[in-house]
Amino acid sequence: MATSLDISRDNANAPALDVGSPALAPRSTAKINLVGLTRDGLAQTLADFGLPQNRIRMRVGQLWNAIYHRGLTDFADMTTLSKDARVKMAEAFVIARPEIVVEQKSVDGTRKWLLRLPADKPGMAGPEIETVYIPEEGRGTLCVSSQVGCTLTCTFCHTGTQKLVRNLTAGEIVGQIMVARDALGEWPGSGRNSDDRLITNIVMMGMGEPLYNFENVRDALDIVSDGEGLSLSKRRVTLSTSGVVPMIERAGTEIGSMLAISLHAVNDETRDKLVPLNKKYPIGELLEACRHYPGLSNARRITFEYVMLKGVNDSLADARELVRLLKGIPAKINLIPFNPWPGTDYECSDWATIEKFADVVNRAGYASPVRTPRGRDIMAACGQLKSETVKARASERFKTAAAAPPA
Ligand code: SAH
Ligand code: SF4
Repeated sequence: MATSLDISRDNANAPALDVGSPALAPRSTAKINLVGLTRDGLAQTLADFGLPQNRIRMRVGQLWNAIYHRGLTDFADMTTLSKDARVKMAEAFVIARPEIVVEQKSVDGTRKWLLRLPADKPGMAGPEIETVYIPEEGRGTLCVSSQVGCTLTCTFCHTGTQKLVRNLTAGEIVGQIMVARDALGEWPGSGRNSDDRLITNIVMMGMGEPLYNFENVRDALDIVSDGEGLSLSKRRVTLSTSGVVPMIERAGTEIGSMLAISLHAVNDETRDKLVPLNKKYPIGELLEACRHYPGLSNARRITFEYVMLKGVNDSLADARELVRLLKGIPAKINLIPFNPWPGTDYECSDWATIEKFADVVNRAGYASPVRTPRGRDIMAACGQLKSETVKARASERFKTAAAAPPA
């Protein structure tokens, strides 16, 4: 286990593979992207397109199957549509994914994609996000972003140092899963057995606070769990929140995925510093909302994430308080060794400290709680994501400042 604490602070040498762009992102055209529309939205789009009412249901089903089950991107390949329909649809619509800018592979098999979204204004570079695939024995988890950057400023999180550029659309959220399926060769017909899936779990734990982009995350996850498309059960989807208390109940009723809470501290004083949102929604209120999470049961537990920060939140007293606080809530606890990033003052707890902390948690009945860091060498681990959009902007600012004459 000790090796999981071998922290690579230098990702400059990580292999970067410029894979070019398989993307169809609409740039200058006004074509509508069908990816990310709900079934109702797709029906409405086809009605606006002039399709007679009595054909819409059938067409929605055909398109849904082509886009989300087969992963097609070209209307010409949709042989269930008439030739005329294929041509007309290709004139009006696109099936676009975010564009892969760079793909990186970690020594441990983790893969990270830097994706570029369509530009918000013509002539501008599109914003960038990161998506991470973590293969493990018997499962494969895709870590999906919900925003470009984050408005919250958790002090231990690299993404938190990146100002929010914007919310992702539902299509851009689903698009991350489709890009990963493209890159992994996971669509049916690519020679793989469809029972042998590479992406078995989705975690909304990439960049951003998913509950601050509620509608788009909800619509995207509905598409993900639709049995005639990507078909990943909501029980295999986990939404992680830093604790947006007023949205937790809605998340349970309208999204219905598994819930993870970024707790990270057992008293308000420490949590105020780590997760400043705590000043608005303190621990007591957060745990109260958890107790009322719709659908909560021993079979559907809430995961509490706890990042191990040396000398900050890692004492045995903290461990005991954690167990006390969670009493009565069907819970899992994930201890996350802190993943460092350039410029942070925090350090990861020593391994012996993590083990002792884990012992207390284990003795209280919570199993295997330490999450092994993955993909640290390519800055793909939890909290290390920060896209080039902002890094580039920062270096631009630096250049401008350096070039400016002294005041
Ligand atoms: N905004 C959401 C989801 C994205 S962050 C949230 O905060 O829950 C996903 C997880 O990574 C959270 O538990 C977050 O606290 C954790 N995390 C952030 N920075 C980290 C770091 N440097 N090391 C380890 N975990 C980190
Ligand atoms: Fe945002 Fe989550 Fe990072 Fe906090 S931990 S800054 S909420 S992405």
